Amino acid sequence: MSDMRDDVRELFRALTGREVDGLWSAPGRVNLIGEHTDYNGGFVLPFAIDRRTVAAVGVRDDDRIRVASTFAPDEPWIESSLPDLDAVRAAGDEGDWARYPLGIAWALGQDVAGPRGADLRAVPGVDILIDSTVPSGAGLSSSAAIECAVAVALNDLWRLGLDRPALAKAGQRSENDFVGAPTGILDQSASMLGRRDHAVFLDCRSLQVEIVPLGFEQAGLSVLVIDTGQAHEHANGDYRDRREACERGARELGVVALRDVGVGDLDRARSVLDDVTFRRVRHVVTEDARVLETVRLLREEGPRSIGAALDASHASMRDDFEITTPQLDLAVETARDAGALGARMTGGGFGGSAIALVPDELLSQVRVAVDGAFAEHGYGQPDAFVVRPSDGATREPDA
Ligand code: ADP
Ligand code: MG
Repeated sequence: MSDMRDDVRELFRALTGREVDGLWSAPGRVNLIGEHTDYNGGFVLPFAIDRRTVAAVGVRDDDRIRVASTFAPDEPWIESSLPDLDAVRAAGDEGDWARYPLGIAWALGQDVAGPRGADLRAVPGVDILIDSTVPSGAGLSSSAAIECAVAVALNDLWRLGLDRPALAKAGQRSENDFVGAPTGILDQSASMLGRRDHAVFLDCRSLQVEIVPLGFEQAGLSVLVIDTGQAHEHANGDYRDRREACERGARELGVVALRDVGVGDLDRARSVLDDVTFRRVRHVVTEDARVLETVRLLREEGPRSIGAALDASHASMRDDFEITTPQLDLAVETARDAGALGARMTGGGFGGSAIALVPDELLSQVRVAVDGAFAEHGYGQPDAFVVRPSDGATREPDA
């Protein structure tokens, strides 16, 4: 991290001929359990990881916002005036990475930042250089890491005085209304509120947050991420289809959201709903229960007790929600057979990554087994790496 900080300071100097006013950083996240529950008003349990995005920022003496990223080294600055961000938003070019940082400045000018938001005609312009160790599109939320790093930076530099939940909301607002991705607030909450060796237990309806000790360090456990390399695509039809099935299920059961359906209501749900809708509903309802159970187990029995809940979550996503892939299923089964206490797909599904909870002494064994199984099936080699539950967005110490 300190090397990365020095490098990004140096690059900022080379690009602008001046020093940064500060460095801010925010982590990616892994969702330990609670998949497709967020937009159903339910529960999620992500943690922030030790892969971070750094935003190096310098205040300007005009109203321009300029963004650059080491991710796109051949592009010079992409820029706008702050008051013109509304027009940039309306122009809508979804593939453009610059929409993530620009969208935060825009969102901070909306009502997430108080009744009127920040006055984008009064705050100073900024140069923002992004550097990141969060892999893009691997289900680790590189997008929220950018949003949260830029949000804490602008909150400080523009003296907005917003708290972390408000900044998380600005991130979601930006992603929904500026980037155009219909995502919940899980990613930004984890990136903003994470804490070392803790998870962020979020009630997506009330937005209440509890920080739950994981105890992985003391128990000698690691979370191994197995990135299948299959690109996930949130905006695609499958994701929309699952959301629509959940909305249909809630409507036909006469509830506001599937959060309001209990495990004890599933017998009635089976008699009311068609088979596919019922299985979609059953995933969400049982997944909410598994999140609550995981939180209880972490508090009362410790982290070695949560493996079965992770396994059950994967089975539910495979059989009921039908969002896994053969690669994800293979990663999960192989990791478990090689000694993982539990394993599941994480993220939106249809590709992306699986996670396995592994005793430290079995890590290499699990890696070798997964590599071997993928080779045997003729799948491309997965990228496997350990993530440590880490602190959320912060200002980095000055050089
Ligand atoms: P995820 O958040 O799961 O990684 P998303 O599709 O939500 O996947 O976000 C990935 C997008 O975020 C990329 O397509 C790119 O536009 C942007 N992005 C990710 N990392 C960087 C980076 N280091 N610099 C600039 N843009 C990035
Ligand atoms: Mg994302």
